[in-house]
Amino acid sequence: MAKNKKNDKMDRLVSLCKRRGYIFQSSEIYGGLNSCWDYGPLGAELKRNIKTSWWEAMTARRDDIEGLDAAILMHPAVWKTSGHIDEFTDPLVDCKTCQARFRAEDLAENKNPEQCPACGNKTLTEARQFNLMFKTFMGPVADDSAAVYLRPETAQGIYVNFLNVKNASRQKIPFGIAQIGKAFRNEITPGNFIFRTREFEQMEMQYFIHPSEDEKWFEYWKEQRWNWYMELGINKDKLRWHEHGPDDLAHYAKAAYDIEYEFPFGWKELEGVHNRTDFDLSRHQEATGKDMGYIDERFKEKFMPYIIETSAGCDRTLLTVLVDAYVEDDSRGDKSTVLKLSPKVAPIKAAVFPLVKKDGMPEIAEKLYHDLKKRFKVFYDAGGSVGRRYARMDEAGTPFCITIDGQTKDDDTVTIRDRDSMEQTRHKLAEVADFLAEKVG
Ligand code: ATP
Repeated sequence: MAKNKKNDKMDRLVSLCKRRGYIFQSSEIYGGLNSCWDYGPLGAELKRNIKTSWWEAMTARRDDIEGLDAAILMHPAVWKTSGHIDEFTDPLVDCKTCQARFRAEDLAENKNPEQCPACGNKTLTEARQFNLMFKTFMGPVADDSAAVYLRPETAQGIYVNFLNVKNASRQKIPFGIAQIGKAFRNEITPGNFIFRTREFEQMEMQYFIHPSEDEKWFEYWKEQRWNWYMELGINKDKLRWHEHGPDDLAHYAKAAYDIEYEFPFGWKELEGVHNRTDFDLSRHQEATGKDMGYIDERFKEKFMPYIIETSAGCDRTLLTVLVDAYVEDDSRGDKSTVLKLSPKVAPIKAAVFPLVKKDGMPEIAEKLYHDLKKRFKVFYDAGGSVGRRYARMDEAGTPFCITIDGQTKDDDTVTIRDRDSMEQTRHKLAEVADFLAEKVG
């Protein structure tokens, strides 16, 4: 029962996302494409704001991290070296009766792991390894010598550019390289809306350090990454750390922690913080013969840098932000929904309304709208009752509504309504921009 209620919440969030223009199903007019989603007008803004917040925290505001934007297609040998061609697999189980496919890992969590969850028959095959990389061909000939892969992670683009970035930027260890970009995995069971998809965006940072300082930097990056979710306004009681035990720790990693969020469908990974040791650079050195070693003035020795990785999913963060902000509040009217997004990431920062379409109010409202538009994403709405306009903005997650009313002409003041408290306060027209700047940060 409780489970259904939680799933209903996801269904209602999915329908709000469509109604308000956050997220649409890909190729919907053709019946949709499984697990692929398009970000609509508000979704595109929200995603951009999340990426900007990450970029600012991880490179722009720091002296020790450089940005990178590597190509999605890379030399296929990269994926051989990284182990993805041989090992980036998920055990897959088929049902011989209904042809449904499952990840063996998911079945193992069920009460009856031998039974098909779709049709109930005990006709599941043995698990076989399924490679999650999308393969395609470069140029006109589709043979194996032309095979290339859509990258399954952005990290490899960083490792293969380690020497380029170090030499061009003259950074000294410890320093990092950060990148935001698309990644592709042919997931066996995508689902839970945008939580697990086959095309998604990652926000990854690799921090290069001296091996003797790995524990210090690992702790440092755990704290920084946790704080970033706090900056996004995520409820800290819904976040937790999950430590990878000996069974789920990757063979190359010395330590790994995931930040998890409690979604309506359970606690799930949002981001990984990993100590990848010198595995990646050593492997690429071995494969290419390029010297990845680093000579350090401080340590007076040559060494292979260790890497602390922070690897977050942009789409998963966006889903977290939406789930965390979604509130059904009947006190505002029957079935009212509010998205209590942090003003920092909200797609529209404020809406401007004339109370009525007469007595000079629209002219003042339009001028204010055009002035604010130079600095903020704002929205003008003169249609319908002011209550309806508030409700539309609550659902879109707009934190402030500014109304020009009869008093504005007399004393140059407007009301600003706060989305969460619904309180209205009067402000000087000339001070509205500063008010927003302070709130939006
Ligand atoms: P999972 O166990 O959920 O498959 P993972 O451990 O394979 O994730 P990583 O390889 O560590 O994930 O990728 C880093 C981040 O990229 C994840 O924490 C997640 O936010 C995001 N991510 C990975 N796979 C997907 C996917 N299929 N869809 C959306 N985001 C993803």
